[in-house]
Amino acid sequence: MSAASIRQFTCRSDNFGVLLHDAEGGVTLSIDAPEEGPIVAALEREGWRLTHILTTHHHNDHVAANEALKARFGAEIVGPAGERAKIPGLDRAVRGGETIRIGSLDVHVIDTPGHTAGEVSYHVPAAGALFAADTLFSLGCGRLFEGDAATMWASLRRLRALPDETMLYCGHEYTATNARFAVDVDPGNLLLQERVKEVEALRVRGEATLPVPLGREKRTNPFLRADDPDLQAAFGMAGEDPVSVFAALREKRNGY
Ligand code: ZN
Ligand code: FE
Repeated sequence: MSAASIRQFTCRSDNFGVLLHDAEGGVTLSIDAPEEGPIVAALEREGWRLTHILTTHHHNDHVAANEALKARFGAEIVGPAGERAKIPGLDRAVRGGETIRIGSLDVHVIDTPGHTAGEVSYHVPAAGALFAADTLFSLGCGRLFEGDAATMWASLRRLRALPDETMLYCGHEYTATNARFAVDVDPGNLLLQERVKEVEALRVRGEATLPVPLGREKRTNPFLRADDPDLQAAFGMAGEDPVSVFAALREKRNGY
C-alpha cells in the first residue's frame, strides 16, 4: 500500500462519490462526478484539491458535475475513448488495457462494456481498489442498456480476475435489493447469508455496504458465478452455458 487515502460518501440519492488522494504525488481523484456539492464538501473536509476526474461512463448521474468541477478546480477529466463525444469536458480519452500514471499512482483501465457500450473500470493496485461503477455492484451487476449478456459476462470475468483482497467500490448503494434477489436464486449459500445479515445491520445503522473485498463477491454474487456448478444447480441450470445462465439471472433480476 502507498500513501493513498480513499473517502466514500453519498451523492444524489443512491450514488456514491469517491475521492482518492495520493499524498506522495500530490493528486486527488474523483471517481465519476455525480454531484458537485457533496464532492466539494468532502474535499474541504479533507483539505484536498481536486486534480482529476476518472469517468467510468456517460450516464448523467456519473458526469453531472464534470463541467462545474473542471471550472472550479481546473481538474483534468479522464474517460473512455468509446464514449468520448458523450462525456462533458473530457480531456484525456483512455482505453482498456492502458495504464496511466497519475501522481505516484498507476491506474489500470479495464474495458467493461455491457451497461454502456464504452464503460471502463479503474483498478489502482497501490490503493488496493477497484472502481467498477455500474458494471459490478455488491451482489449484483449493472443493467444491460447498451450491451448483451455475452458482453457483460466477459466484462465481469475481467473484473473477477483481480486479486481477492482488492476492495470493490461501486456506483450505487443497491446492495440490500440485490441481496434479496441473490438469496432467492442461491438459498443454500452460507457465505451469502452471512453477507446479507451484515448488509441488513449496516443499512439499519444508515451505513454504506461498500467497499467490500472482491474475494467475498466472487463467492456470494450470483452474477460472478454463472459458470459455478453450485450456483448453476441452485438456479436450476446445471451444466448450461455460462452466458445463458448469466442472461437468465439478469433477465430474472430485471423483473424482480
Ligand atoms: Zn449508469
Ligand atoms: Fe449510475
